Amino acid sequence: MKKNKSFFLIVLALTFFASPLFSQIKPEAGDPPNRTDIPQFFKSKLSDVQSEIEKVKAGEVKTIAVSPGGRPIYAVYYGEKDDFKSQANYNSAVAARNPAYYAQKDKSTKPVLFFIGPVHGQEVENIVGMVNLIHIAETGKDYRGKEWPELKEKINKCRTIIIPCANPDGRQRCPYNTFLGLPTDIMTKYGQGTRKDGSFYGWPGAKAVHPMKGDVGILGAYFNDNGINIMQDEYFNPMAKETKAILEIARTEAPDITVSLHSHENHPIILQPAYIPMFQKKRVHNLAIAVNNRYKKAGIDHVADDGFWTPQPEDENSLHTTFNLISAVHHISGTMAFTFECPHGCVLNNTSVPRVNYNDILDIELLLFDEMYDYILNNRIYWELN
Ligand SMILES: [Zn+2]
Repeated sequence: MKKNKSFFLIVLALTFFASPLFSQIKPEAGDPPNRTDIPQFFKSKLSDVQSEIEKVKAGEVKTIAVSPGGRPIYAVYYGEKDDFKSQANYNSAVAARNPAYYAQKDKSTKPVLFFIGPVHGQEVENIVGMVNLIHIAETGKDYRGKEWPELKEKINKCRTIIIPCANPDGRQRCPYNTFLGLPTDIMTKYGQGTRKDGSFYGWPGAKAVHPMKGDVGILGAYFNDNGINIMQDEYFNPMAKETKAILEIARTEAPDITVSLHSHENHPIILQPAYIPMFQKKRVHNLAIAVNNRYKKAGIDHVADDGFWTPQPEDENSLHTTFNLISAVHHISGTMAFTFECPHGCVLNNTSVPRVNYNDILDIELLLFDEMYDYILNNRIYWELN
C-alpha cells in the first residue's frame, strides 16, 4: 500500500515538473541566460509553489481558480475562520451606517490578513516571499533556516490567507527566476511584452491595449493566457477568473488588511491606494512609514525620508488615478488595502550594482509581512452592533 502511494506521488511529481504547463522556458537567443547562482531559499518558480503546497500540513489549501492556461491558483489558509454573522453586503452595511451588518468584528474575533501574491508574472520576488511565509507558518523558519518565532506567534493569533501566485500563466511565460543584476530592458521585454516587430510595450504602454491581443510578439508576464492584467480588470464584471476568485476571498473573508505584491526597479515601497477613504489612506501611510523605518534600521534598501508620499484625496486633476484591484477589494470588504513594490534588483546597464541582493529581497518581503501583522494586531478597527 505504502509503496503504491509513493509510486503515485513520484508519478504525480514527474508529470508536474515535465508538463509544458510548468516547465522552465528559455530566454530568446541574444538575451542573457538565467543566473546560475540563485540560492535555494530564493523560491521563485511555479514548481517551488507546487512543492510548498504539497508540504502544507498546518494550513488548509484550496484551488480557488484555474487559469486560462489550465494552471491552478492556490490559496493557503491559516487560523480558523470566525463567524462574522454577516447579514448584508459591505456596500449596503455601510449605507446602513455600520459595517458590522456585513461583518461583526469584536475583540473575540481574529484579525484577518490577505496576501495576494504576484498578479504580474515577472514579479517573481513576491513568490519568494509567499513561499517563505508559508514555510514560516508551517515550521517557524524561512528557507535560509532563520527562525521567526515572533512572526510565527503573530500568525497563530490571526487568520491568514496566502495566494502564493495569482497569475501562474504569466509566471510560466517569464523565463527568468530572478532579475538581479539583469538590465531593466530584459524585465520590460518579458514583463510587459513586445509587439510583432519586437518593439517593447513597456510601462504604461502595456496597459493601452487590454485585453492584450492582436499585435503581440511576446505576450508579457503581466497578463494571463487570455491577455488579462488582473490589476486593471473590469471589477464590476471581471474578465479573469483569477480576479473573480480574489474578490470572492475579500468578500467572504472580510480581511482587516490586504496587500497586492508587486515589484519594480526602484526602492521597496508601499504605494498610496486610490479611491479608498482618507482614514484608510492615513493608516496605509502610517504602515508604509513603519515598514520603511524597519528597512532603514536593518540597513537595507529604503526610501529617503523626503521621498515619501503623503495621503491625498483624488481630485479633478487625478486623470491618471484608477480604481484598480486595490480599490475593488476595499469596496467589497472595507479592507485596508494597498500595493507593495519590491525591488527586482535589475540594473540600468551591466556595469551598475544592484541595490539589493538575494538575502535583501527575502528580508524586504518578510519584514513587510512582520510589520503588517504588528500593525493590524495593534491598530485593528472593530465593527460592532450597538
Ligand atoms: Zn506589478
